[in-house]
Amino acid sequence: MVETTVGALLQSVAAAELKETATRLYNAGLLEVGGATGISSDMRVAQTPALQPVSVEKPPFPSTLLIKLTGACNWACTYCYDYDRKRFRESLELGDVAPIIEQMANNHKHLNIIFHGGEPLLRFKELKAILSFTTEVCAERGATARFSIQTNGSFLDEEVISFLQQHSVEVGMSIDGPSELNDKNRIDHLGRGTSVQFEKLFEVFPDFMRSRVGYITTVTSTNVHKLSQVANYLRTLGVVSWKTAIFDMEGRARNASQLIPDLNAYIEFMLESLEDCASGRWFGFKYNNILELLDNVFSVRRSNMCLKFPCGAGREFLVAAADKTMMACDATYHPSFVIGTLGDEIATAQSSANGRALSERQDWLLNEAECASCPWFHYCAGTCMAKAVIQHGTVKAVDDFECSVRKAIFPVVFESLANPTSRLRDYYLSSRRRSPVKAVTA
Ligand code: SF4
Ligand code: SF4
Repeated sequence: MVETTVGALLQSVAAAELKETATRLYNAGLLEVGGATGISSDMRVAQTPALQPVSVEKPPFPSTLLIKLTGACNWACTYCYDYDRKRFRESLELGDVAPIIEQMANNHKHLNIIFHGGEPLLRFKELKAILSFTTEVCAERGATARFSIQTNGSFLDEEVISFLQQHSVEVGMSIDGPSELNDKNRIDHLGRGTSVQFEKLFEVFPDFMRSRVGYITTVTSTNVHKLSQVANYLRTLGVVSWKTAIFDMEGRARNASQLIPDLNAYIEFMLESLEDCASGRWFGFKYNNILELLDNVFSVRRSNMCLKFPCGAGREFLVAAADKTMMACDATYHPSFVIGTLGDEIATAQSSANGRALSERQDWLLNEAECASCPWFHYCAGTCMAKAVIQHGTVKAVDDFECSVRKAIFPVVFESLANPTSRLRDYYLSSRRRSPVKAVTA
């Protein structure tokens, strides 16, 4: 009798706790019931901070500015999303961006300035002037600035590298694999492959190239079946940070449908990569596409502007385009992303018709899109708005490619994290420098 009472009591406690736990998991978007999660009900707003809609009336004031110093480039990559015949002749000077930098410094303690182009080192003098101005403006206000640059690397020499290092400028470069892959699309204006220049930099500045530069590979039909080969090539060179970016039909590649990569081949590569990370084979090699997804799994804090809800475009992030327009993001030149001109007050640009229309995507995602009932919404945040516009001509859409990739990847991520032999969590923590973990040699 006593046993029965205690048993019944335990059962009821367990049932109550189970119910509470299940409710919390459901509300956090971690448990699916009948095809829905808590984030697709009204409760999502109260329970999942990462998915709360943000005020369209008063968006956050931007703290990151990407400066398109010039529309020109000394190379002519076949898939260049940035290329435009008119913009190719345009460039920016300090006076064009100084008012925006001052507004940002008046509102934030930490600014991020990204030098971009075209090829930004074609305007090295202006770059130095803007960096120096930003540093002064921030110092006057007790703020700090972090700088980064995306370059093709062709103008890197002792002087430029020394300047970049002196000012702790983070460097990003693109490479699409070994010469037989890279030189199909990354070519100069005479059609010559550019990998010779890339490999020369590794000979002359090996330490800088290995440890101070992060690399991006544009995924096209040319290399999508050979991404493991690309990863091995970079690892052999000693590269420590890598990311893949899916090709877009923009700019010079507006009509280059033959370059669209095969979705299944990319998913297969991502799953193999996940396995490489989980087995310990990729310790010491940061594959950022996996790490960024894991950031959202391990934390509700969304530091990556592209994986937060809503994304940073026109909110935390602004672009000063070479033609002196103010844009919400540089991932597309679609007219809907132009929110003003560089002479405008930032708040005015944010509340322009285009600025508000971009912000309204969040309601569509939360209420009407497939995302509203997708179990992965909490981690995915609805894919890139710019890619959605490129594919569908409207912000009320998702990037179909990225959506398919995430639906394939997230279940395997969780399966791996639940597996006691998986080292995925260790890979994540060591890559984010939260705990030292020894590599496994394969
Ligand atoms: S974009 Fe796709 S994977 Fe992401 S939340 Fe929406 S439906 Fe889910
Ligand atoms: S539009 Fe795309 S690239 Fe731009 S901030 Fe948003 S998610 Fe990132």
